Amino acid sequence: MDEAVQFRDQFNSDLRSAIIDCERQLHLAYQPIANATSEALTGVEALVRWNHPEKGKINPGTFIQFAEESGLIEELGEWILRQAVTDAANWPDLRLAINISPLQARQKNFGENIIRTLKSANFDPSRLELEITEKSLLDGDPVILQNLKYLRKKGAKVALDDFGVGLSSLSHIRDIEVDRIKIDRSFVTASTSEKGRALVQAIIGLAYANDISVTAEGIETKAQLEHLRQVGCDEIQGFYLSRPLSVSRFIRWRERGEAIAESDPETGAAPDDGDQADVRHAMAC
Ligand code: C2E
Ligand code: MG
Ligand code: MG
Repeated sequence: MDEAVQFRDQFNSDLRSAIIDCERQLHLAYQPIANATSEALTGVEALVRWNHPEKGKINPGTFIQFAEESGLIEELGEWILRQAVTDAANWPDLRLAINISPLQARQKNFGENIIRTLKSANFDPSRLELEITEKSLLDGDPVILQNLKYLRKKGAKVALDDFGVGLSSLSHIRDIEVDRIKIDRSFVTASTSEKGRALVQAIIGLAYANDISVTAEGIETKAQLEHLRQVGCDEIQGFYLSRPLSVSRFIRWRERGEAIAESDPETGAAPDDGDQADVRHAMAC
């Protein structure tokens, strides 16, 4: 058998085992999101982590793609949602953002299934924000659009993730009812130059003119934060505020209160432990 095929089959089989053995191998890390002006916490983004028994930590960018190709993404996505609403039940004042693969959103009953899960967990849909990348919307699949519309009608929010790097961004703002855009890290990095800042300012102006909130993602330095503030960005997310954290670390980080001031004076970064398995709060799969 071709080596690449063999590798893929083994990887998929391992991923299937990980989903079955989710309590030991999978966990969610939470990255804080805050108000850009006050730095008060407004929400968290759930980011999945896989600790492979032999290979160790696997990059989500890689295994999500495998999960999509093998069809395991639906099962994985369901686990992520159930786990995230269980964890976030302890943080009733925060919005919960989860990432959605287009392959999940393309399922006919995707919207209904999400609402059913939220109901059974007694989780208010208005606290949930679904992050979907522009890439997923490129082919204008009507099922995805219907599902997003249904979820918004039920009170959930929709955010366009990695905004600006996909194609036809402007038409997405016009055609798809979204509540938020998340400006991609590449724009944040560029915001320290005058040209880059002008671009970010234009994106923000466009969003506000359409009643859309804006989160800047990937803020790593105080200078970037200042620039984003100057151009009137709503919310911030990035290593400057905190890296993704395991549940127990996030709880401690929050309790410290003054965590932002206490973080690394150079980069402002809090310690990265989002990749450490923390199964204390894991629920049965
Ligand atoms: P994303 O949704 O855009 O998530 C942001 C990614 O940027 C995360 O990487 C996060 O750790 C990283 N990040 C956040 N702040 C900074 C920063 O200041 N600097 C830098 N350099 N990076 C920062 P992660 O966790 O490796 O996730 C990568 C991508 O994998 C995510 O991008 C998302 O597309 C996908 N992903 C992660 N978790 C899930 C999930 O639960 N479900 C699905 N469908 N996709 C997920
Ligand atoms: Mg995201
Ligand atoms: Mg993003």
